[in-house]
Amino acid sequence: MTDGSAAPSAPRRGAPGASVGAGALLQLLRDGTPRTRSELAALTGLARSTVTGRIDALLAAGLIAPTGETASTGGRPPATFAFNPAARIALGADLGATHARLAVTDLAGNVLAVTNADLDIALGPKAVLDWTVEHGLALLAEVGRPATDLLGIGIGLPGPVEHDTGRAVNPPIMPGWDGFDVPAYVRERIPVPVMVDNDVNIMALGEHFTAWPEYQHLLFIKAATGIGCGIIAAGQVYRGAQGAAGDMGHIRVARADDVHCRCGNTGCLEAVASGAAIARNLTAQGVPAGGSLDVVELARSGSVPALRLVRQAGRDIGEVLAGAVNFFNPSIIVIGGSLALAGDHLIAGVREVIYQRSLPLATRHLRIAAARTGESSGAIGAGVMVIEHALHPDRLDASTELKTNG
Ligand SMILES: [Zn+2]
Repeated sequence: MTDGSAAPSAPRRGAPGASVGAGALLQLLRDGTPRTRSELAALTGLARSTVTGRIDALLAAGLIAPTGETASTGGRPPATFAFNPAARIALGADLGATHARLAVTDLAGNVLAVTNADLDIALGPKAVLDWTVEHGLALLAEVGRPATDLLGIGIGLPGPVEHDTGRAVNPPIMPGWDGFDVPAYVRERIPVPVMVDNDVNIMALGEHFTAWPEYQHLLFIKAATGIGCGIIAAGQVYRGAQGAAGDMGHIRVARADDVHCRCGNTGCLEAVASGAAIARNLTAQGVPAGGSLDVVELARSGSVPALRLVRQAGRDIGEVLAGAVNFFNPSIIVIGGSLALAGDHLIAGVREVIYQRSLPLATRHLRIAAARTGESSGAIGAGVMVIEHALHPDRLDASTELKTNG
């Protein structure tokens, strides 16, 4: 994020537990459970007086709120405090190749309002981001919140992104976007922190945060016109050295050895198992299909060639994932993207090969499931990216809002 607040908090001195700042206290309360000062003192090892100081700072920032009183045996009942998700809001934008979706969420990722439209990313950054700003502000008006309530804006783009700077890097389907400073352009219009990532990472984040928070190691597969993978490792998005982690579409599969891929190689997963590849294959078999969505429609209407090819695509994806399972040992693989809407055939093919090919230890507790968050996963995830960044304990303790807290 480019808000200049990423400096680590100053080392604290004092009693045991003093390293547990207000940010860490908030982290405990983000599960939504109301707790008393005594409970928080017991959980953190902080002195009661220290807990009281940190609670006061969080109350002043509006991030927690009193939640009434607990039952007590005589005397004044102790007050309880809980996370206040309504304190601030986040705006998430999922900008796809031809479609855009915006969501305003509270700090718990609950969607307050959404909007979407057909929008061609090839119109270039200014036109697309102007649309995002205009409709983002309209959504804020719809939920009755001023832009000053925004914790930040998260944006997902359908191509490689340098996450630290928020710039797209040689995006194949995004003319005019290469190197464009997305955060700076948006901040000039709405002066709040702006973060950018690729669409698959924000979908993985949205899906993890809303549907599978108990799984710490998650692979999210987006099977659509192309094939990509978002990686959640130890609860965090894993981007790799250059932000290219999870780019599984150009890993080789045996069946594709003589098939040319748009990347210049032969044998890529995407060349045989993507929505675009299946559509080409169907058309060659005399079943006309223009793209991923046609494939889904054909499969849903029971077209045998379409069902057969979707199932085989699942097996091909499973072949690549079988190696990833041995290598990464995920606790869950979530299958999403438009092809996943074709029914159970894609996931059945994935399961078939992974359980056959991965090591028993890696698959013993492995879950393979269909995505749950639906079409808004990317927009929600873009907002969650901002929330997780801003509410990170170190960043929160360093922020001016909680600066007075000792
Ligand atoms: Zn390729």
